Amino acid sequence: MRKTGLLALVGGLVLGLAAVCVAADTKDAPAAPPKAAAAAANNDASSITVYVTETGKSYHADGCKFLAKSKKATTLAQVAKDGLSPCSVCKPPQYVFATGTDKDKNKLYHLAACKTAKGTQAVMSLEAATLAGFAPCADCKAPLMVFVTDSGKSYHRAECTTLANSKSKTGMLLEDAKKSYKPCGTCKPPE
Ligand SMILES: [Zn+2]
Ligand SMILES: [Zn+2]
Ligand SMILES: [Zn+2]
Repeated sequence: MRKTGLLALVGGLVLGLAAVCVAADTKDAPAAPPKAAAAAANNDASSITVYVTETGKSYHADGCKFLAKSKKATTLAQVAKDGLSPCSVCKPPQYVFATGTDKDKNKLYHLAACKTAKGTQAVMSLEAATLAGFAPCADCKAPLMVFVTDSGKSYHRAECTTLANSKSKTGMLLEDAKKSYKPCGTCKPPE
């Protein structure tokens, strides 16, 4: 985007200085600008692939045993629209409905049936919502995601400094993390 603006500016300056031909620049129109990173991060549900079966009410991660008979690729955004639930065996990425923007104090994410969720709701993966600073809504008991590292034995809040120094971090539900990890002493995640 910035490059495009610069090009236009330089082009404009050159044209202005030379003051010769007016519409000569239109041929050099730059290619479509790359997608803004922020927009992509907020809208990740439409780029995450999950799988459904002919008849099931759940959606799955690739390789799940329930996909043996029928398997159809779709997106997290679509299964959110259809109201399907994540398979409890393969644990595919979860979707949530985020409300509030950076300007609001109430950046929350919700489950589908939440009555508190008002205004524009953006479907996001739980991980993207967590990393973007949205908090779980207490009314609908939205799940909480915490993060673990490859080598560490603790689970962390998304903003923990320990995670910033680690090469890898994996998001998982608090209830799953509690089974194999201890809460970090630095960021003090919920127990
Ligand atoms: Zn499954
Ligand atoms: Zn809610
Ligand atoms: Zn921590």
